[in-house]
Formats: sequence, C-alpha cells, structure tokens
Amino acid sequence: MDLGLSGRSALVCGASKGLGLGCAISLAREGVAVTLVARGAEALEAAAADIRATTGATVDTVAADITTPEGRAAALAACPAPDILVTNAGGPKPGDFRDWEREHWIAALDANMLTPIALIKATVDGMMARGFGRIVNITSGAVKAPIDILGLSNGARSGLTGFVAGLARQTVARNVTINNLLPGPFETDRLRETARQWAKQSGKPEDLVLAQRRAANPAGRFGTTQEFGDACAYLCSAQAGFITGQNLLMDGGHYPGTF
Ligand code: NAD
Repeated sequence: MDLGLSGRSALVCGASKGLGLGCAISLAREGVAVTLVARGAEALEAAAADIRATTGATVDTVAADITTPEGRAAALAACPAPDILVTNAGGPKPGDFRDWEREHWIAALDANMLTPIALIKATVDGMMARGFGRIVNITSGAVKAPIDILGLSNGARSGLTGFVAGLARQTVARNVTINNLLPGPFETDRLRETARQWAKQSGKPEDLVLAQRRAANPAGRFGTTQEFGDACAYLCSAQAGFITGQNLLMDGGHYPGTF
C-alpha cells in the first residue's frame, strides 16, 4: 500500500537507535524527508548515513537533548514546519519509588510528558493551517499495564496520555491526528537496561531474565524495531486521517485484557 507520504517532512526524536530509529527508517522508505534528533552525535551520524544509503531519502540531523529548551529550539530550527512529529526520549530509570525525590519526578515529567507537549505546541497549529499533520508519541505499554519498577514512567506517560486524549479531538477536523504508540518488549538498548535491573533484583543472570521474558510473551519473542516503525508509518499515512486519540499497544498480546 502506498502510504501517500512521499514529499512530506518529519521530525523524529530519539532517532539514533531503537524505536525512534525504526520510525525514521520506515518513514524515509515512504519518501519522507526526516530530521533525526538524538544526543550522541556519533550514533546519530551513523544512523543518518545508513538511512540515506538504504532509502535515498533526505536526512538531516540535530545532536541535542530534546528534553531541554535549547535542544527543542535546535530541533525546531532544523525542521520548523514538520508534517509529521514523532516524540520520543529515553525512558526514566527503573527503581524503587522510595528512592525517588522531587527532582527525579520532575525530570521524568520533563522528559516523558512536558517535552512532547512542548513539541506539539510548537508544531500543531502550523499543521492545522496547512491541512495535514500526524503526531505520534512513543509512550509505553506501562500506560495500560503498569510495570512495578518503572513507576516514573507509569506516572509521567499517563499524564501525557490524558493530555493527548483531549487535544486529539480538537485537531482532527483539520486533518491533524495525534496518537500514541505503546511499545511492549522490543529488543533495544532500553529493554536490555531494564533486564539488567530485573537481574539485579532477582539475582538471576541477565540472559535468563531475557529468555524468560521472551518465553512469557504469547508471541514467544520480542518485537522488532521494523515492526514498530511500520506501525508508526501507517499512523502517519494519508489513509489514517480518521484515527486519532488512540493508544495502540504493540506487545505480542502480552496485555491480557479484551479491550
Ligand atoms: P533506546 O535506548 O534503544 O533508544 C533511545 C533513543 O533515544 C536513542 O537514540 C537515544 O540517543 C535517544 N534519546 C534518549 N534520550 C534522549 C534525549 N533526552 N534527547 C534526545 N534523544 C534522546 O530506547 P528504545 O527502546 O528505543 O525506547 C524508546 C522509548 O520507548 C523510551 O522512552 C522507552 O522507555 C520506551 N519503551 C521502550 C520499550 C522497549 O521494549 N524497548 C518498552 C516500553 C517503553
């Protein structure tokens, strides 16, 4: 299916690795000019070179911390009027809520709630004026089924989800949709970091923790970043203009609820 995205532009955050990179690759394959944002310049340039070589798409890079006002200003200066915005930043560290002080909560809210809202604020009115916009927030399966050691993530991302639910109904008449993609377990650096924490807490080897998590998933495996990126590209497609305010869980069926 042609997703009708050729010639569009996208600002993709957290895009040098993992799920953000998966989204950038899938969009670039559809002919979207992508601006990639990530902190580390080396991994970012390597990712950009790969995408250019494999898709032929135009790829710009901004090495910046998207959770800071300066980082967001640099990203928006490089891509001031994106047709597509993919918000993403590293997730908060796992741990025990007894160890977290106010500054830990503020950092989590800044990264995983207020940064996406600031980026939406900076881009959504332009999208509405131009009559096309697709915003996808990478959140987490923890929004539907909280993960005990990820309390900071459970809290901050639920705040973003509540905000988006209200805004998404105000933009769709102008062909601007806002949706959240909720990753379950995908094999990325982030998943390995969480597995290390579980291994530490349980005293089990990390490889065993990973194998048990794979086996516990109805799919018997972790998701791939390509699967994630392709779902993102679909939500950004011309055909997806009637889908807004949704939380699409991608977890191999791990969440056991009917709805
Ligand atoms: P990852 O660690 O593999 O990649 C994160 C990417 O974001 C990297 O490119 C990194 O450079 C970039 N990044 C991180 N912080 C940034 C910042 N402040 N500014 C700019 N760029 C930044 O992580 P991932 O697995 O791709 O996860 C992406 C998001 O999805 C995270 O918020 C994570 O918590 C969430 N998530 C992941 C999983 C999973 O299984 N992988 C599950 C649930 C939720």
